[in-house]
Amino acid sequence: MKAETKLVAGTPPALDRATVHAYRENQPGPFYYQREAHPVGLEAEQRLSELEGGEALLFPSGMGAVTALCLALLEPGARVAVADGGYYGTVGLLRGELARWGLQVSVFDQTGEPPEAELVWLEPCSNPMLTFPDIAHVCERVHAAGGRVLVDNTVLSPLLLRPLEHGADLVLHSASKILAGHHDALLGVVACADQEAAARLRAFRNASGIVAAPDPVWLLLRGMKTLGLRAERQSASALELARRLAGHPAVATVRYPGLGDAVADRYVSAYGPLLSFDVADGEAAAAVERGLRLIENATSLGGVASTLEARARWEGERVPPGLLRLSAGLEDVEDLWADLQQALAAA
Ligand SMILES: *Cc1c(COP(=O)(O)O)cnc(C)c1O
Repeated sequence: MKAETKLVAGTPPALDRATVHAYRENQPGPFYYQREAHPVGLEAEQRLSELEGGEALLFPSGMGAVTALCLALLEPGARVAVADGGYYGTVGLLRGELARWGLQVSVFDQTGEPPEAELVWLEPCSNPMLTFPDIAHVCERVHAAGGRVLVDNTVLSPLLLRPLEHGADLVLHSASKILAGHHDALLGVVACADQEAAARLRAFRNASGIVAAPDPVWLLLRGMKTLGLRAERQSASALELARRLAGHPAVATVRYPGLGDAVADRYVSAYGPLLSFDVADGEAAAAVERGLRLIENATSLGGVASTLEARARWEGERVPPGLLRLSAGLEDVEDLWADLQQALAAA
């Protein structure tokens, strides 16, 4: 059965908010205290595990998942090599807060050879530079040197890419993005290829209390019912907009793997909602932001409503000053293009 069919099947789960379930015959059941496990969480984890093909655990945010994963699975002094041009929050957390706990963090070009490290961190369709690594090749190299590979699969979702099938050891998601899909739930996920890592992470989650509450998880389950449709439609719109932007006189560079990336083509047949493009400078980028009438000038990605922003606002000199990041939503693509055209006319 196709993953999409399994996602839409069935009636909605009950939203059980209980933090405590009574013992039966003075024995704790599968649910006795919410920090350990709760019914909505278990259902979502089962669905995510099936989608990714490895044991999945929920966390209260993507960054919560990054924190738990590093503290649970790495030792002080471990070397972590993160994809250059990847999510700035990840690089910032690793280099800032977690470096204080002894992690040695380096940044590398994920389209080339990986450096030696205990953990190599890939991001296909990196956010916002849109580079795509040769996942299987990197896994081979890293495994030969005794390391592990994590793939941040936030941008593509398991419907477009299943990294564990290509040799990755760990998959991470900000489920706040395309998985939940409606900009109304903050969550994170880690899926593990081996059960030992999953058990270690589960024990750490319970001990640390970095746990996801039932309400956002219920919204995640609701959102995932349409994940197949959304991933397909958003990818189609993003590809069309990328093609048209590439021919626009005010646009210098368009980044989208669907425009011709031989490595990406070996792994995926649709390229997700996220693209970025450059206008002349920071001022031109601000003019485009102000000129939008339909597309939300807002951060984040993967929602049903399209969002666009100048990333230099957050990332400073890590990105070109005129870089605009766009996440295609479910609006009619002609309406989206009309909005971009009129906003670009102001730039
Ligand atoms: C947003 C994002 C994160 C962080 O997730 P939060 O849910 O915002 O904590 C991590 N990785 C990528 C690629 C992201 O886009």
